[in-house]
Amino acid sequence: MSSTTTFADLGLAQPLLRAIADSGYTQPTPIQAQAIPQVIRGGDVLAAAQTGTGKTAGFTLPILHRLLNMPATARKPGCPRVLVLTPTRELAAQVEESVRTYGQYTDVRSMVMFGGVNINPQITALRKPLDILVATPGRLLDHAGQKTVDLSGVEVLVLDEADRMLDMGFIRDIRKVLALLPKSRQNLLFSATFSDEIRGLATGLLRDPVEISVARRNTASELVDQGVVLTEQSHKRDLVSHIIRGRGWHQVLVFTRTKHGANRLAEKLVKDGLTAAAIHGNKSQSARTRALAGFKDGKIAVLVATDIAARGLDIDQLPQVVNFELPNVPEDYVHRIGRTGRAGSPGSALSLVDHSEIKLLTAIEKVIKRPIDRIQIPDWDPATMLRPATSGRGDEDRPEPSGQRRGERRDGRGGPSNAGGRDGQAGRNGRDGAKPQGGRGRSEARSATAGSSRPAAARSDTARPAHGRGDAPRTGQPRSGRAPQAALLGKPSSR
Ligand code: AMP
Repeated sequence: MSSTTTFADLGLAQPLLRAIADSGYTQPTPIQAQAIPQVIRGGDVLAAAQTGTGKTAGFTLPILHRLLNMPATARKPGCPRVLVLTPTRELAAQVEESVRTYGQYTDVRSMVMFGGVNINPQITALRKPLDILVATPGRLLDHAGQKTVDLSGVEVLVLDEADRMLDMGFIRDIRKVLALLPKSRQNLLFSATFSDEIRGLATGLLRDPVEISVARRNTASELVDQGVVLTEQSHKRDLVSHIIRGRGWHQVLVFTRTKHGANRLAEKLVKDGLTAAAIHGNKSQSARTRALAGFKDGKIAVLVATDIAARGLDIDQLPQVVNFELPNVPEDYVHRIGRTGRAGSPGSALSLVDHSEIKLLTAIEKVIKRPIDRIQIPDWDPATMLRPATSGRGDEDRPEPSGQRRGERRDGRGGPSNAGGRDGQAGRNGRDGAKPQGGRGRSEARSATAGSSRPAAARSDTARPAHGRGDAPRTGQPRSGRAPQAALLGKPSSR
């Protein structure tokens, strides 16, 4: 398919082309250019594609097209013609939203169902005629058990993020669902990775599939500026707060390993004047949906998430990801940073790593086949730690901090230790507003490469010791003589 292929060239029906135009897409992405004609043709498809490649439209558009061209003789309540299975609630919601978006000029009816919410509204919704059902496996089986859904009319099955579904232990549920479907149907399997297990699933499921693959997004490591800050675990919350405020990051996804950790970090960030929310499995679905919506439309600057909660989140062109802790599984690192640098837009991923995580770091570097730059943060001073390499311009230095934008200037909060009032100095020459941190005895990182702190006369509110411990100033340690750090991660001094 040539690079000048248009959606019209792919043969999509007019109402879909109209919706696509409304979405502002001018050209199909590679996965769409390949998948759309195949799905329209009606054959099975095995597609290697990750989130961010445009895969959702790659299957929803041609499915909608097929439905338009094969009108149901009798649409039956609770009896979908298309079933899309996803690993997570969020992904299910996003896929169904895409169906609605692309199907807005059609009369195709869709519904999403997932667990963690009251089943009764879903039962009520299933009493209406239905074309496309997007579901997570567990709740779907609940409905099937209660006979509130009838899967005997499914003509097209999509397994989205199949590798994730297997990772999350859904294989038995998937097999149970498959047993409820008619034998003759079209099957589309989307997966980011192809383990033996996925291959096994595909072999049993697909008939003469067309295989489609687009550039693996494991090459995220090329799209995303990455850096590691070596620090102590107990310093991380202060440090991440300091960095986000110092940089004025307005849309950051921060990964923590635990739900509790996510809550505590979000609370700390809010206390520091940032708009932040945690999103994890213990949160109600409505709280998760609200947090995600707030994050997407800019009302929440920092979303703190666990891996599971973040899976499948579709957030356009996310500029920043922070790994508060490294994931235990190196591939999860790739997934995490894959949230940024999407659709060719630049992104950066910063990982805070303590000594106990060095092994994980090494494993990650093996997977991405390259070392990750170590970023030095002397004094945690943004003036030196995160200055872009290419410019010292104020816009890069201090974009409007989210807290300020919402009138939540920290200097107005009257916190006990915010004498620095750093944010109030936004107009000042670049980073000067960010006071050196060492004066309160803040000493970052005993890890050798984390950069030594220097005591400083001035302090900012970001310089509070994490727990009032007041680590001893590391007097006598030379300040890093290295060049100022690059854009997070632009070209920091590497190890
Ligand atoms: P997905 O891989 O399906 O999660 O899509 C990633 C993002 O790309 C979504 O936010 C889509 O809105 C966006 N997208 C999908 N198709 C296109 C396209 N043809 N041109 C530009 N953006 C697109």
